[in-house]
Amino acid sequence: MSVSQELFDRAQRVMPGGVNSPVRAFNSVGGTPPFISAAKGPYLTDVDGREYVDLVGSWGPALLGHAHPVVLESVHEAVERGLSFGATTRGETELAELLVDRVGPVEEIRMVSTGTEATMTALRLARGFTGRDLVIKFAGCYHGHVDSLLAEAGSGVATLALPGSAGVTEATSSQTLVLPYNDVTALEQAFADHPGEIAAVITEAAPCNMGVVTPENNFNAEIRRVTQEHGALMILDEVLTGFRVHEAGYWGLTNEAEGGWTPDLFTFGKVIGGGLPTAALGGRADVMNYLAPTGPVYQAGTLSGNPIAMAAGLATLKCADRIAYQTIDRRSEQLRDAVRSALDTAGVNYSIQEAGNLFSIAFGTRDTGVHNYADAKAQETFRYTPFFHAMLDAGVYLPPSVFEAWFLSAAHDDSAMDRIISALPAAAQAAAE
Ligand code: PLP
Repeated sequence: MSVSQELFDRAQRVMPGGVNSPVRAFNSVGGTPPFISAAKGPYLTDVDGREYVDLVGSWGPALLGHAHPVVLESVHEAVERGLSFGATTRGETELAELLVDRVGPVEEIRMVSTGTEATMTALRLARGFTGRDLVIKFAGCYHGHVDSLLAEAGSGVATLALPGSAGVTEATSSQTLVLPYNDVTALEQAFADHPGEIAAVITEAAPCNMGVVTPENNFNAEIRRVTQEHGALMILDEVLTGFRVHEAGYWGLTNEAEGGWTPDLFTFGKVIGGGLPTAALGGRADVMNYLAPTGPVYQAGTLSGNPIAMAAGLATLKCADRIAYQTIDRRSEQLRDAVRSALDTAGVNYSIQEAGNLFSIAFGTRDTGVHNYADAKAQETFRYTPFFHAMLDAGVYLPPSVFEAWFLSAAHDDSAMDRIISALPAAAQAAAE
């Protein structure tokens, strides 16, 4: 028996499903998840001594690759000064300044510990600011496990094929309107049906949790237009895309070409903590100042702005220069070409869905593409399991769900890419059968 299997058996006795986050249990692809003991650059090592090229990157934070020396040095220095003070520190201001510098419309920042907290707080703030109750989200978008945002959510909720979550009250669900993504008519209709009642529209900057879906026909700009017309806030969730697809996130990558739209609030996470638990919300100063202590909307956190997390985030973002993004973009293009070539050769019906350097495969969608959650669910998901396991057997660690994006890093060098690319033909063959 492998050490991973032994540990998984033990874990299942003391933790639901043996995990602390559902997708890690490999339910949709089956098999035993490798237990990871270390990670360096583009590689993971498991407790059985197997090495994998990593295409998950801790679900996004590992933009520079794992254990980047500059990040580790900053963390070590910070650790020497103490772990948590529960008081204000220089690092919090420095990271907030960096985020404000990089993302034009962001004037003020509040640090929290997870993306879930960031979106939860953004909703409360939007309701407090507008005095309205309803919120719009799009089916297939995932914004963390906030009660009101779990309806038709992507990520693990999609992977487990759940409609939402038990334990969310009817009263809470009834305050969230769920609309199809990429559908401006449905958005306009919802505002027409609920005049003066909608506080905010929250959207992933580009959906990456039902697989990747590209915002079409300037969909983000359209959300901005409609929300502005109706006095509602636009919350752009960049927890996953922020500082990954561009120095200023998906907003930075796309807004100018689309007429220069500006959301009221942003949410960030993943990359900004460099692998430690930090996330943030930020945006217009007049809205942000509605947060306590300057305003009436309460939010707080024992470990918010934790000094070690600030050090990791600052070091990561300082190293995330134009060259790092160019490297990731180039590696992403190289990998997409290789995936296309392997799947074409094996005669597989698929499309590749893209948002900047993030992408995913959707099987059986060559003729239709994927424009929303209904399309994403209609794909031939069963083809991903043999594809995933063929890659894993060849030492490539893909997301254990077809509904997740593939994450490259600036540390994916020629030899890591060669290992991925040489594993693709057999995986494509497995997907074809
Ligand atoms: N928003 C988006 C777009 C995400 O992808 C995620 C997590 O994957 C979240 C919010 C929630 O972040 P966290 O898992 O840190 O709570």
